[in-house]
Amino acid sequence: FISIRGARKTYGKVEALRGVDLEVHKGEVILIIGPSGSGKSTLLRSVNRLERLDSGTIYIDGDCVTDEKADIRQIREEVGMVFQSFNLFPHLSVMENITLAPITVKKVTPIEAEETALRLLKKVGLSDKAHAYPDQLSGGQQQRVAIARALAMNPKVMLFDEPTSALDPEMIKEVLDVMTALAKEGMTMLVVSHEMGFARAAANRVIFMDQGQIIESAPPEEFFTNPKEERTKRFLEHIL
Ligand code: ATP
Ligand code: MG
Repeated sequence: FISIRGARKTYGKVEALRGVDLEVHKGEVILIIGPSGSGKSTLLRSVNRLERLDSGTIYIDGDCVTDEKADIRQIREEVGMVFQSFNLFPHLSVMENITLAPITVKKVTPIEAEETALRLLKKVGLSDKAHAYPDQLSGGQQQRVAIARALAMNPKVMLFDEPTSALDPEMIKEVLDVMTALAKEGMTMLVVSHEMGFARAAANRVIFMDQGQIIESAPPEEFFTNPKEERTKRFLEHIL
């Protein structure tokens, strides 16, 4: 469903991606872990074309994302992304944040967009916040709005780059619960996170990246109890 082949990316002398191959099935949830600077964000950002690869290809549902002529707008519609910082528009209400792109980009009618927004707000447990502004919400609530906003475009794939690392501990769970529910519904997800609870609850596979390469890939149980690579073991000792 997502097919990444030979992905390479350098920034000056830094090799952020050094030949990454990854096949993701429809509905699969992949957790990506690895040390700082290992290329996790670069990989995610290449999937929705926030970054351009130097070489290699990425296909999503048969569409080539890395093609020169790829329609970037269409890619951004099909691939939702949630970042560490919630990136909501501060001057827009929750409802406006969620309906803006569907109305302006997808040409959905405002009524339809609002119906979808209310459905999604219910899903992320924020039915009562439609008319609030971002600065009136907690970090966890803002991040759940950001997830609802991404879902409003009806994406085929969702990317999460450390979605809980800016949150206080008591808010992490509410965001992970929303992500877990999304995973159970069959969304195809690439998640960069060091939340091992989420890995066990929702991930089909855990991938360990180091220095721009995938070092190891296995189902969560196997990955955590019986890692094969020395570098993976050292990293897990460090974080678990
Ligand atoms: P972290 O866990 O800290 O978020 P990461 O695994 O997401 O790290 P990336 O952000 O993908 O790592 O970065 C991979 C490498 O590429 C790093 O050495 C980083 O310094 C470098 N890099 C990333 N983005 C840029 C950029 N825009 N310009 C220059 N170098 C960059
Ligand atoms: Mg990163």
